[in-house]
Amino acid sequence: MQKASKFLGFVLAIFIILAFFWLRFERLRFDAIVIHHSASTVDNYRTIADYHLKEKGWRDAAYHLIISNGSTEIPLGFLEATRRYQYLSPSPATKNMYYNLRAIHICVVGNYDKREMPVRLQEALADTIRQLQEKFGIADDHIFFHRDCSSSSCPGSFITKEKLQKWLTSEADRCPKAVKIQHEKCIGTDWGWVSAANRALTRFSGRAFGFLGFLFPGSLPFQPIA
Ligand SMILES: [Zn+2]
Repeated sequence: MQKASKFLGFVLAIFIILAFFWLRFERLRFDAIVIHHSASTVDNYRTIADYHLKEKGWRDAAYHLIISNGSTEIPLGFLEATRRYQYLSPSPATKNMYYNLRAIHICVVGNYDKREMPVRLQEALADTIRQLQEKFGIADDHIFFHRDCSSSSCPGSFITKEKLQKWLTSEADRCPKAVKIQHEKCIGTDWGWVSAANRALTRFSGRAFGFLGFLFPGSLPFQPIA
């Protein structure tokens, strides 16, 4: 009897330790956020994924999350999570390997080399960033633009760090409730249609990156442009 309870205690301890690391490594998976624009006027996850497959040969859109500008059936400000987000997998979105591996890449649909980002999108972007910071424990000074990581004008010359700072402090809270709730769902939930085994395997590889973050919690190789 004593032996059995000892064994049960042992199994329980192992289970608790595994559960701890499973959750911990997901949180540690990403240690930065990189912001992109689509440099187009009409786009969504489906069209970006098609474009990246055709032009670059990538199996999925380069980003983890895509924010709609309302140009397609996806309502303005709503998020689409790509398979890269679901699987916690790396992104090929910049020429900087470190940020491709360790950052979560958000694409806002629109061309912000040509025009100002609409206020509703500023709010949606700010809310998305705040929610991701909360979920993955990412600090304010680990928020970057594509152009901070490798040579590019992305996410457009109309978007500056000063503006982003303002959006984060004053506009994240103004994001409409329905949009916030959609963001919470998109950032927080699993997709039903991915097979359980496939999901477990791919998420495991994502957590392996989290484990790397656990082993090497040091600073990023480049200074953020504050
Ligand atoms: Zn970009």
